Amino acid sequence: MAKKYLFITGGVVSSLGKGLASASIGKLLEARGIKVNIIKCDPYINVDPGTMNPYQHGEVYVTEDGAETDLDLGHYERFTSITTTHSNNITTGKVYYSVISKERKGEYLGGTVQVIPHITNEIKSMIKKSSGKHKVVIVEIGGTVGDIEGLPFLEAIRQLKLELGSKNALNIHISLVPFIKAAGEIKTKPTQHSVGKLREIGIQPDILLCRTEKSLSKKIKEKIALFCNMDDEDVIEARDVSDIYNVPLVLKEQKLDEIILRKLRLKYKGSDLREWRKNVVDAAANPARQVRIAVVGKYIQLQDAYKSIYEALKHGGINNRAEVIIDKVDSEDIEKKGAEFFLKGAGGILIPGGFGNRGIEGKVMAAGYARENKIPFLGICLGMQTAVIEFARNACGLKGANSTEFNSKTKYPVISLLSEQRKIKHKGGTMRLGAYPCRLRPKTIAFDAYKKRTVYERHRHRYEFNNKYRKVFLSKGVVFAGIYPASNLVEIIEIKGHPWFVGCQFHPEFKSKPDKPSPLFRDFIKAAIQYNGSK
Ligand code: GLN
Repeated sequence: MAKKYLFITGGVVSSLGKGLASASIGKLLEARGIKVNIIKCDPYINVDPGTMNPYQHGEVYVTEDGAETDLDLGHYERFTSITTTHSNNITTGKVYYSVISKERKGEYLGGTVQVIPHITNEIKSMIKKSSGKHKVVIVEIGGTVGDIEGLPFLEAIRQLKLELGSKNALNIHISLVPFIKAAGEIKTKPTQHSVGKLREIGIQPDILLCRTEKSLSKKIKEKIALFCNMDDEDVIEARDVSDIYNVPLVLKEQKLDEIILRKLRLKYKGSDLREWRKNVVDAAANPARQVRIAVVGKYIQLQDAYKSIYEALKHGGINNRAEVIIDKVDSEDIEKKGAEFFLKGAGGILIPGGFGNRGIEGKVMAAGYARENKIPFLGICLGMQTAVIEFARNACGLKGANSTEFNSKTKYPVISLLSEQRKIKHKGGTMRLGAYPCRLRPKTIAFDAYKKRTVYERHRHRYEFNNKYRKVFLSKGVVFAGIYPASNLVEIIEIKGHPWFVGCQFHPEFKSKPDKPSPLFRDFIKAAIQYNGSK
């Protein structure tokens, strides 16, 4: 049977939650026993977001196979059973790179290489190639309808639907239906215009998801349907919800899954979302306690910069029946006012990953505060590295110890460049990326969490613990709880005598799911609850 495609576009404004909608539709289809894949198309010219500042792009999500990708892939993995790879994220940069390389090899010899058909054909072939052995493939197109850079992607999906036939492909458009306070009215015009814009380029939405603060009356839905050239039942209300994991349930209430499956002529089983409702949505809505976690970062103003970290904390909370209250602390503020001012009262302290010198000293101070006051601590990647720097300076007496990333002339380079990184000249896609095995030492916090000797977690770094300092760290009470056996790279450090202090070189947040939390996040939250209770 032919593969089926769902093309998701967005209109009126950005940040409508297309990624969440795509992930939620994926969830709904999986709940009916259908194998799905989700692909994100991003219209920017970077080959991948790996070289972008978090302020430009938000978090860079790392896949198992080491691709640096859009954070929407994180939603796809958190909501569904999909393990995304390099091919789940198609960018304009990747498409042009491929077309231009072919042109140089002479593959289009004699032809003029053009956006249509060469770029659009390349997009179509990348989408088809990425689809894998799945029954339904959801293709989310980034950006907003009307953006110049998104046009080749829209043209490609227009052609694809024509080729595949209307039983095998659907266009789902997500739009905004705002409530205008001054008029006291819900307005449908922006949606009409957005759909008009799509129809101008030959795309007629089959289903419309209307993002709205207020419930949409039957009359409003009929009006939207009439002016957007659709059936009333295909206009779906996507009301704001406080918990993102509730989105699949809200969409299901309106039978979105049945509408999709019917239109695609797919046979389906009854839907089973009981576990999700019970273990995720209801558990999150009924916490037995609260716990405060301070996240000490430098991109804390931006909601999306530490997306997977915040989600993983939430997952740890759900598992422990606790509402996690996240205090976002700017590490540069700690440099000015001291750690205590911001971190007193925290049940746990987390330092996430990062790059560059700015804010480093504040992170070092936060790690020291957690160590000395025996507050549960989770340091991730740069967070582990700053904990190492702090320990070197203050517990080992190595004054001025640092990472060579921040001070190449430091007398005590406790964090130094990975040897394979020395030869690398290009910046894009060249870090130590993706999943590598980590061997755990029994009777450690990490082993107790994972309960396994070998775990696979995802990486994104150029620097590592400098093994020359192992002895002195050991003698002062550091436990090397996890090692990458092939090169003896330190993956996890702990501190003897501290109730819960873990620094890991990898990023456990990328594999955390609401119904299957990362073991480290789960136990970190548990320790934070215990610490709170003991005060
Ligand atoms: N900048 C550090 C490194 O490259 C840490 C990276 C990170 O936190 N992801 O090793």
